[in-house]
This record gives sequence, C-alpha cells and structure tokens, in this order.
Amino acid sequence: MTSPSEYVVTARKWRPQQFGEVVGQDHVTTTLRNALASGRIHHAYLFCGPRGVGKTTTARIVARAVNCAAPRDGIEPCNECDSCRDIISGRSMDVVEIDGASNNSVEDIRRLRENAKYPPTFGRYKVYIIDEVHMLSSSAFNALLKTLEEPPAHLLFIFATTEPHKVPATIQSRCQRFDFHRMSTRTIAEHLRTIADAEQVAIDDDALFAIARFADGSMRDAQSLFDQVRAFASGPITGADVRRSLHVLGDDVYFAITDAIAERSLARAFELARTIVGQGFDIHQAIVGLLEHLRNALTVRATGSTELIEASDETRQQYSELAQRFTQEDLVHMMTITAHAEQHLRFASQPQIRLELLLAQLVHLPTAYDIGRLIAELEQLRSQPPEPPQAPTAPALPQKDDTAVSPQPANAPKAESPSQTGAATAQLDWQAFIATLPPTLKILKPILARIPPPTLTEHQCTFSCSDTGDAKMLEEKRQTLETYLAKKLGRSVAIQIVQSASAAAPSPAPPDLTPAVTHRELFPIERVLIEKFGAQRVAGVR
Ligand SMILES: [Zn+2]
Repeated sequence: MTSPSEYVVTARKWRPQQFGEVVGQDHVTTTLRNALASGRIHHAYLFCGPRGVGKTTTARIVARAVNCAAPRDGIEPCNECDSCRDIISGRSMDVVEIDGASNNSVEDIRRLRENAKYPPTFGRYKVYIIDEVHMLSSSAFNALLKTLEEPPAHLLFIFATTEPHKVPATIQSRCQRFDFHRMSTRTIAEHLRTIADAEQVAIDDDALFAIARFADGSMRDAQSLFDQVRAFASGPITGADVRRSLHVLGDDVYFAITDAIAERSLARAFELARTIVGQGFDIHQAIVGLLEHLRNALTVRATGSTELIEASDETRQQYSELAQRFTQEDLVHMMTITAHAEQHLRFASQPQIRLELLLAQLVHLPTAYDIGRLIAELEQLRSQPPEPPQAPTAPALPQKDDTAVSPQPANAPKAESPSQTGAATAQLDWQAFIATLPPTLKILKPILARIPPPTLTEHQCTFSCSDTGDAKMLEEKRQTLETYLAKKLGRSVAIQIVQSASAAAPSPAPPDLTPAVTHRELFPIERVLIEKFGAQRVAGVR
C-alpha cells in the first residue's frame, strides 16, 4: 500500500519520458525521431489533437532531446544529464512553457520575443512550448509572426492546440504540423493494464475497458479515472465497481435488451426500462449506449469478426453470439429506429415513455429473419428441377396420400433422385444434426436452424443462404463442417454455399414504382411485397 505522502497521481508517474514510451502516436514520434536523427529540426512545430493524448508530453521530450548532452542513439533524451534534469525539474532557462490561455496578450508575446533573442545557456536550443496556442489574441499572433518569419537559429517553437482551425493560416504555414490521434479504447485499456500490473492493482479487463470507454480517447482522463476508482475500491476491482463509481450502464443491460428483442418479450423490455429509469440513469445516455451496442453487433455480423469491437475478450465473445441472432437488415433497421428515438428525445416531455416506445418498436420489429428465410425457400422451390415424368408402371403402384405433394417419399433409396431436397432428410436427420453439433461448430447453430436444410447428393452438400453474413460464416467454418459431415455420413462431401438471388443481386425496381419510393431504401418487407406479390406503393405516403 502506498501511503498518502508518497502517492503520486498515475498520469504524472507514468508520463512518457522518451519517444518510445509515447502511446498511440507512432506516426508522430517516428517522424520526430527521424528529424532528430538526421539533424533536420524545424524551427516551429504545431501539435494538434484532442486533449490528453500526449501533445505537451511529446513537446517536452522534443525539448529535452534537442538539448540533451548524451542522447541515446542520438535521438532519445538521456534524462540524466544536467540539461535533461533541469528541464524535468522545471529549472531550465532554455525551455519555457507558456499557457496560451492565460498569457495571450501582445505584451506577453513581446516579452517572449525579447527573451528569445538571447541564445540558450546550456543546450543548443531555446525552446518555447505554447499550450492552447489558439487562445492568443490576434495582436499576439501578429507579434509572434514577426519572430516566425525570421527565426534565430537557436529558437524552437512548439505550439499545441485542441482547436487548430483557430490558429491563423499565416502561423500554420510557418509550422510543421502534427496531428495527434484520439486514442482508441483498446489502446487506453492496454496501457492501463501495463500500469495496473506494474503497480500490482487487481483489476479485471472489463473494468479497464469501462474506464477507457468513459475517458473517450483521452489517456490523461483515463489515468485520473483509474486513480479515482482505485481510491474507492477495496479488493479486486471489477467492471461493475467501475460502472457504479462512474454511474454508467453496464453492457449486461444492453445485452439484456437485445435478448428481450430477440425473444420478443415486451414485458422484459419494459422491466429493463424501469430499471434504467429507477436507478437514475440518463435516458439519453442509455439510448446512445444502445445504439453503440447495436452498431457493435452489426459490425460483427457484417465482417464476421470481432476485431473492430473495443471491448474485453469476454464481451467480444458475447457479441459474436449476439450477431448470430439477427440479420444485417434487422440490425440496420433497429439502429435506424434507435437513432430516430435519440434525435427526438429532446422534444419528448416524458423521456421514460419515449424509451418504452423505442423498446416496444424494437420488440415488435417485423424481422428480416423470417422474410429472408421465406425468400430463400421460394428461391429454392424455383431452382428445383421439374418433377420427373411418371414411369409407365406408376399407375400400378399403390397410391399414397403424400405422393401428390412430395414426389420423393422420405424413405426412398437415394439412388433414385440424388438431386432432390428430400434425399437429404433420407440420409440425415437435419434437426438432430443441428442439435448435436460439436463445440467447434456451435457458432453455426443459429444459422443452420435459420436457413433451409441443405441439398445433399452423393458427394455434395449445397447450402442456400439469402444473407451475406450467414454465407460468410458458413464459408469460414466450411472445412470443419465438411469433416464433421463426413464423419456423420461415412463418406466425404464437398460443401457448396449458394447465395440466393434475393440478397446477392437485388432485382431491378419494377417499372411501376413511383419516384417517391425509389429515393430511399425499401424495407425488406416492402421489397418482398412488391417483388413477390406485385404490391404497389402509393406516392407521398411514408
Ligand atoms: Zn540528457
């Protein structure tokens, strides 16, 4: 345990002291290192980017590096020589830090120019770091410009700003500009993990991601939140601890909402709405959070990977399962409805009712799932070969009730007509097959249950999907599925994945569509009604 007297805030303790320690800004540090290595130092740099991403920290490293008596590899400041130590402790006469927000008058800049005339006392450069430079008055900028136009060789300016558009073009054109990136949630979480491990703080990944997400791209904010959470917690810190301390909704609530939608349980959805409101969570934040949650599910659905999800491994696994419960069309539709609710929330006199309405709309969403399946089945019916002509001996055979609808009795030998769908069920109980999938194929379960049973021939098994995501996922697991099928059937089969025309290549719009309809995407239900049932849209009706 650290006693209060020796307690140093994390952001200060872990402030990078070398270019190699700056997190998430490699594009900046690489260029700066190259400039230092080749000795081509520009006389003015402009560091742009959001707050807390390392602009001032990097400026200080540059200031030390250019003045260091013994830089490592000729680039990194040693942080041990007199010059480095003076700069670190703030005693150096050669490095001056100015807060542009409070020293923004023309007098301040005149004084700066007066001092800038004198060469550095120790090092090679006199470095001026001006933070929030966009706050300077226009006369101060003009005074600064005169120095920038004819800079003495020993002078180095580093300007930092969160609002580069407010820096006059005349100043910008005389600077080399670097844009610092907002840090990704994952970069922040990973860095917090390094700190937590080094300081022996017991905290789980979920907690670190919750902090990182709340910090919204700022490493400095993340580190102070980390301190805050650490001060309150006794024992190992979990995601729930963090969310309680920051008063934010947990992912579990969003997963519960999508569960309720998938199960079409309005009762459960309303229960969740009551919990959100009852615990005093901000409804706007909750809806924005739901939108992000749906976006994550859509990302996984569309890419077939959780690579782009900024969450702990456990949560990412949850997303890959969630993505299988909805089609892309469903998710896009759900996002549209949610975004609409978010936009209109500020006009709502009773936000809670708006939240309930949103959840009710989502629960009662006509799923593209059912329609996708319908289309796939229609396509399959159409692509089946015509019924073979009856053999001359047919009338002599005893008539059975089901021969009228099914040309292939379920127990017929497979050699008779291997291309028929019915043959698949003859050799393989499809539902039982799905139910007993091994863990390696478990992820396919919802897809296989959703799409029509495959067409099985002697050495080929053809799946027909209307959804690109389904096809992609099947493709990914093709080999494993082939091996497993071979084991079940006692012979090798090649899997073929056919994308049904409805999803792969939408038919051109029928000529009778009015322009009022064609200006926006049709909902899947509308497409089916128009294409399959010859429905027409009435112009002007939304
Ligand atoms: Zn040094």
